[in-house]
Amino acid sequence: MTFRASILTLYPDMFPGPLGASLAGRALEDGKWSLDVTNIRDFAADKHRTVDDTPAGGGAGMVLRCDVLAAALDSVADGRPMLAMSPRGKPLDQARVRDLSAGEGAIVLCGRFEGFDERIFEARDVEPVSIGDYVLSGGELGAMVLLDACIRLLPGVMGAASSGEEESFEQGLLEYPHYTRPYEWEGRTIPEVLRSGDHAKIAAWRKARAIEDTRLRRPDLMERHGDARDQSPSGARRKEES
Ligand code: SAH
Repeated sequence: MTFRASILTLYPDMFPGPLGASLAGRALEDGKWSLDVTNIRDFAADKHRTVDDTPAGGGAGMVLRCDVLAAALDSVADGRPMLAMSPRGKPLDQARVRDLSAGEGAIVLCGRFEGFDERIFEARDVEPVSIGDYVLSGGELGAMVLLDACIRLLPGVMGAASSGEEESFEQGLLEYPHYTRPYEWEGRTIPEVLRSGDHAKIAAWRKARAIEDTRLRRPDLMERHGDARDQSPSGARRKEES
């Protein structure tokens, strides 16, 4: 099954962009995912090809018209999840990415200017998705972030060696830190345990570091996942279920 991505944008030339390089680019060439890009402007109804208008109630900027957005969405809608990039959406996380990558693909609407006429979210089954608590100038980079995260999880894209199960966020934790040669660099050495060859000891060290670093850097993650990664029986059980 090919993961099918459909992008709706005012800047179709931005695609595939970075998604045409490296891992995602090779997977695109190999047909592991497909991409089609629709110019929202093609769905403007007037001769000036207008896609936006001034905000109701006044204020700066322009708002994307819901009739134009709906026509563009309807032209590609086929049951795949429809997402609209928006800082007002639910923040994207690895669980959602896994979910999406296990499906048939996604239709991704990219905003510009002040964003979308809110009625599009009432009239169509389109979910606002944010890539973080900051404001971009457009949804295109957000769409690329979302797709890149999905594509690397598609079967056969990363290869068997890295299933991604140990990675950051998969256990509600940041991943442990990595080291490679040279053994000594600028007076710093690699932690001895990693050279011990004792796989149980290495696993324990990595787990401890993952917990410690998550506590320090992402107390919000620790909070959200409770004791899911603790060694306690209840914690272990929760981890298995997730
Ligand atoms: N006025 C809006 C921001 C508009 S930014 C507000 O304050 O909420 C223009 C477009 O960039 C948005 O429509 C959206 O598609 C995209 N965008 C900006 N920040 C984003 C974010 N954090 N996540 C996803 N998309 C974002």
